Amino acid sequence: MRQRKDKAPSRRAGSIALMVVLFSWLGCLQGEPVPGSRDTLQAKPHADTEQQPANKRKTEIGKPGHIDGARALQYVKEVVAFGPRPIGSPAHAKLEEYLRAHLRADTLEEDSFRTATPAGEMPMRNFIAKFPGSRDGIVVIAGHYDTLYGRKDFVGANDGGSSTGLPLALADYWRAQKKRSGYSLWVVLLDGEEAVKQWSATDSVYGARHLAAKWKADGTAARVKAFLLLDMVGDADLNIERDQNSTPWLEDLVYRAAGNLGYQSHFFARAVGMEDDHLPFREAGIPVADLIDFDYGYNNVFWHSPEDKVDKLSAQSLAIVGDTVVETVRLLDARP
Ligand SMILES: [Zn+2]
Repeated sequence: MRQRKDKAPSRRAGSIALMVVLFSWLGCLQGEPVPGSRDTLQAKPHADTEQQPANKRKTEIGKPGHIDGARALQYVKEVVAFGPRPIGSPAHAKLEEYLRAHLRADTLEEDSFRTATPAGEMPMRNFIAKFPGSRDGIVVIAGHYDTLYGRKDFVGANDGGSSTGLPLALADYWRAQKKRSGYSLWVVLLDGEEAVKQWSATDSVYGARHLAAKWKADGTAARVKAFLLLDMVGDADLNIERDQNSTPWLEDLVYRAAGNLGYQSHFFARAVGMEDDHLPFREAGIPVADLIDFDYGYNNVFWHSPEDKVDKLSAQSLAIVGDTVVETVRLLDARP
């Protein structure tokens, strides 16, 4: 993924983090809250929050029924152990086998296709594990499993690893539920998020573009109530951004879910505009939210760096994001 270029210009070329901080800071200085920041959101009634006293909500964290962060981190370690996993590589093929093995008990659809890239035509494959619910409609939780193309020094623990491991842990969670009373849940592992040569509209998010076009053509898009994207969600210093390219009401709902669990300090302190796997689905008319921490190390220095390794991640961060997804799904199910 990358940050949108046409936002406020940065003072120093290449200093994306500085630009974001500056943007947020200027907003505060002018007395105008950053859209979606704590300031704006606190003004809204949190009906769901108000129904339970804070101490009761807090005691529920860590009880059975929450996402197993340790297991999610274990998945990330196993995925990273394959080495760099760019499209077309043997490690990528091994990871596909690994995903198949873990989702074998589920209704699993493979969306395989070939597409033109700057490196020639490449095979790609999205995985869709389906957990049926009683309510008409679908909520999608997605992440990408490929890593940076053409980089043998990059194992992508956070960028590619966390976006694979946490969806697998969420699939475990929903598989263990005997019968869902809400929307059907589809856990989607997307291929080809990374650019092959240089990030552009045609050289990026290959899997997402293919699946969004397919869902628009076959009518699935109209049945998807929400699309929650997980990307770079494992940083031990967890700061999920408010993404201005996502659907505002769905971002609000994610923030409410985080607040219900007492996790709001990890969410939406900054506003950014992300280009990521969610955009083709937004173009297909689906409400989208990109849950991403694009502040990975000081000034995002670990992003696309050989330092993106498992030692930067924590089980707790994966659990916080996982629990927030589960709570967001509960709030979506509760909507009329
Ligand atoms: Zn990346």
